Amino acid sequence: MTRAPPPSPTATTLLPLLADVWGFDALRAGQTTVIDSTLRGDDCLAVMPTGAGKSLCFQLPALALHRSGLGPTLVVSPLIALMDDQVAALRQRGVAAAVLHSARTGGSWADRKCEAEQAALIYASPERLARPSVRRWLAKLGVARAVVDEAHCISAWGHDFRPSYRDLAWLKEGLGVPVMAVTATAPPRVADDIVAELGMDAPTVVRMPARRENLHFAVRHCSGDKVRIDAAADALLDLNLDAGGRALVYVTTRKRTKSACMALRKRGLKATWYHAGRTVGARAQATAAFQAGRTPIMVATTAWGMGIDRSDVRAVVHVQAPASAAAWAQEAGRAGRDGESAVALLLVGASDRVTRARLVRGDARALAAFDALLDLVATPVCRQRALADALHGDALPDADRAPCGTCDVCRDVQAVTQDIHAHQARATQRRDVLVTKKKAESLVTLAEAELAEVLRFVDGLRRPLGRRVVAMSLRGSRAKEVKRKRVADNPAFGALSGHPQAAIEAAIEALLSDGRLVQKGQKYPTIWIAAKRVRPVKTAPETAARKRRPVATGLAGALRELRKAESRRRRLKPYQVFNDRTLAEIVAAAPRDHASLASLHGVGPARMEKYADLILALVAQHST
Ligand code: ADP
Ligand code: ZN
Repeated sequence: MTRAPPPSPTATTLLPLLADVWGFDALRAGQTTVIDSTLRGDDCLAVMPTGAGKSLCFQLPALALHRSGLGPTLVVSPLIALMDDQVAALRQRGVAAAVLHSARTGGSWADRKCEAEQAALIYASPERLARPSVRRWLAKLGVARAVVDEAHCISAWGHDFRPSYRDLAWLKEGLGVPVMAVTATAPPRVADDIVAELGMDAPTVVRMPARRENLHFAVRHCSGDKVRIDAAADALLDLNLDAGGRALVYVTTRKRTKSACMALRKRGLKATWYHAGRTVGARAQATAAFQAGRTPIMVATTAWGMGIDRSDVRAVVHVQAPASAAAWAQEAGRAGRDGESAVALLLVGASDRVTRARLVRGDARALAAFDALLDLVATPVCRQRALADALHGDALPDADRAPCGTCDVCRDVQAVTQDIHAHQARATQRRDVLVTKKKAESLVTLAEAELAEVLRFVDGLRRPLGRRVVAMSLRGSRAKEVKRKRVADNPAFGALSGHPQAAIEAAIEALLSDGRLVQKGQKYPTIWIAAKRVRPVKTAPETAARKRRPVATGLAGALRELRKAESRRRRLKPYQVFNDRTLAEIVAAAPRDHASLASLHGVGPARMEKYADLILALVAQHST
C-alpha cells in the first residue's frame, strides 16, 4: 500500500493540537526551535533549566507524528518514577503512552508489546533497551524518533554518569531515526560527549537561559540549628501565606522533617511535614492539608515536590544545603512558576558536609558536586549568574550573563561578603581547636612497654596494614574500616585502649624511623615488621567459586556493567573490552589517575584511550 507523504508539520501548525491536548495557547521560544528541528528530521540537543518545559519538546511532535501515521517516539529515561509520572500525565490527557522498564509488574510481555504498539510514546529504561529481543522488536515496529532524557548521564564529566547510558549509539545505528537529547545541565564538555556518544549528525543545539526574573535567591551561613530555623521562620513570616500561596521547606533527612516542622510551628507558622516513611494515612493527610491551604508550609525531603505541580509556591527554603548546584537550581525552580515574585533561600552550615558525606556513601563525585555548591555559595557572585555558570559552563546564553539585580549579592554585596567572612572565621577557629587538641595528644609519648604492644599487634597481622587502622585497632575501635580487616582476634587488639589515637600514630612513626617497623606498599603505605616476609595471598578454592558467580555490587558491579555496555556498543566480547584479571586489579588498586590505571595488567594505550576516563569516573564514584 502506498501512502501520500505526510504533510510536513511545523511548531506553528501544531498550535491547535497543543491547545486541544495540553490547553496551552503558545510555545516558549526554546520549545519552538527544538520542535521545528525534530520535525525537520534533525538531531537536536536541548539544554533547558528545570521548569522550562522539556517534556513538551518531544511529546508534542511525538503525538503529531503518530497521528500522521508514523510510528511511536521512543523515550529513554533513567528514573522509573519519572517515566511513570509522565506516562500517567499523558494518559490523563488522552495520549496513548506505554512504559517498558524492569520494575513493571503485571501483564505479559506480549500484552505490553501490544499496548506499546498502539502508543504515541514508548518510555524505556536503558537496561531494557540493551536486550536484543527488545531491540529487534523496536526495529521492526519502526519508531519515528528517539529521545534521550537526562542526557547528561551519558558523560563521565557529568554529575550523574551511568554506564548503561553508554550503549545508546544504537538508537541511531539500529533504528536510524533522528535523535533528541534533553537535559537541564550540560556545560560544553558534557554537551560534546552527548553529541559524540549518540552519534548525532550536525545537531541543532538549543540552550535556554537559566534566568528566572521573578525568583529572589539568597544564601545564609548559619551556625547551629536554632539559627537556621530562625532564619527560615523570619523569611516565611515575611511572606504572609495566610493571604494565599505556599512554601516548601527542604531538609536532607526524614528525621529532620518532623523536628523542623515542630520548630516552625513554635514560631506560629502553619506547617506540616512529609516523608516516605510516614504511614499512608499520615502522608495523605499532610498532602491534603497543604493542598487545601490549611498548612501552606510543607517540610519535606527534596524528592517531594517533583509531582506537585503548583504554580503559586512563594518560597523554597533549604534548611540544609541541597546535593549540588544543579539540585539547588532544580528544587528552587519549583518556586514562582506563576511568574509572581518568589523566594529561594538556602541556609548552609558546617554540619551540612558531614551529613552529605554520610548520605552519598563514598560516592566521591557526588561529594565533589556538593563541594562545588559550597564554593559557589561562599563566593559573592550574583546567585543566578553562578547557577547559570554551573548549568551551561562557557556556553552561557546571553540572557544569563548580566547580574540578576534581585538576589542577595546583587542587592547588598557587602552584607553577603561579611556573612561569608564570618563563616570562614568560624571554620578556621573550629579547625584550630581541633589541631591544638591533636597536637597535644601526639605529644603524649608511649613507654617502651606500650611500643612493644604496637610491635606485638603488627607481628600478629596476616597482611601489612595502614597505620591509622593499626592505631585504631590498638585502641580497640569498632569502626567499620577496622571490622573489615578482621583483627579483633589479634592478641594485642585493644591493648592500648586508654591512649589517644594521635599518640599511637606518633609511636608508629617513631618505630618506623628507628627501623623496627618498615613501610610496605606504594599507593597505600602500610606497615610491617622489619625483615619479616609477607606471605603471598592464597588462592583458596573459595576465591575460585566466587569468580564463577560474581556478585555485581560496588565498583566491581559498575565495571561489569560498563564492560557489558561497551562490548555491545563496540561489538566485542566482554573480555576483549577488559578481562576479569584487569577488572580485579582495578578494584584492588582503585587508581585515581591515568598513570596508575595504565600501570595495571592488560591496560595498554588503546584501552587507555577508549576507557580510561570512564573507568576513572567509576572508581571516583565508588571510592571512599
Ligand atoms: P522540565 O521537564 O523542563 O522541568 P516540564 O516539561 O515538567 O519541565 O514543564 C514544566 C511546567 O511548564 C509544566 O507544568 C508544564 O505543563 C508547563 N509548560 C511547559 N510548556 C508550556 C507552554 N508552552 N505553555 C504553558 N505551560 C507550559
Ligand atoms: Zn543576582
